[in-house]
Amino acid sequence: MPELPEVEIVRRGLERHVVGRTIDSVQMLHPRALRRHVAGPDDFAAAVRGRKITGALRRGKYLWLPVGDDAVLAHLGMSGQLLVGDPSRPLSSHVRVRLTFTDSGPDLRFSDQRTFGHLSLAVGGSALPAAIAHIAPDPLEPAFDLAAVTARIRGRQSGIKRALLDQSLVSGIGNIYADEALWRAGLHWAREGQQLRKVQISQLFGAVQEVFAESLSAGGTTFDSLYVNVNGQSGYFERSLNVYGRAGQPCRRCGTAVRRDPFMNRSAFSCPKCQPRPRTRP
Ligand SMILES: [Zn+2]
Repeated sequence: MPELPEVEIVRRGLERHVVGRTIDSVQMLHPRALRRHVAGPDDFAAAVRGRKITGALRRGKYLWLPVGDDAVLAHLGMSGQLLVGDPSRPLSSHVRVRLTFTDSGPDLRFSDQRTFGHLSLAVGGSALPAAIAHIAPDPLEPAFDLAAVTARIRGRQSGIKRALLDQSLVSGIGNIYADEALWRAGLHWAREGQQLRKVQISQLFGAVQEVFAESLSAGGTTFDSLYVNVNGQSGYFERSLNVYGRAGQPCRRCGTAVRRDPFMNRSAFSCPKCQPRPRTRP
């Protein structure tokens, strides 16, 4: 599943390759990709034809391309890809929607093997589509307000990892990046928000930003080999993760065996020494 750095890389690719171009035609190969567009796939096609893409924006894992006052809104789901390339190349069976442009240059293909991703037209959504207005800014956005997020975390009894994954508090942090940032900050995933000091929370978000920045400069990380960036080149690479997926292996800081705990139907990886477990309260 693409995480925030991968989606940001896709956004940058769209910014470079489709902004400023006018949509000529919409080829609908699999209407399920338009299921979030309630007026139906034909309405989507008619609405975007002839419109110029004026930007490439992102909030969390959603991307949108403003067209006039409206926007084409995309979510990549588990396996979605946005591919830009020679319009005459063969269509793979996973391509759901294809946009061509009036300049006859590279086309844009929304490909999705597992069909969890989707496209829609967000009417009046050029600045921020209403459908995603409830999603909190992510730590890479200028709108991210560290002081406000810190105050909300310190008002909670819930564990810090649960807070990091809460998209109404802060968006874009998935399981991998949460574990990596907590390890860097030396915080156990179960530490309660209300027991953390302000400085610990700001160090934690500093760690989140570091992990994201490293991932961005390396081209994104993912364990999903289906992930391909906007040019169709694989963004997959072997990142040296410090704890995630490394149960039983030595911590890169202290050598203690990394521990895996069940967490919200998934796992939490941590170093028992660098990230001491909080004492249970009486
Ligand atoms: Zn350690």
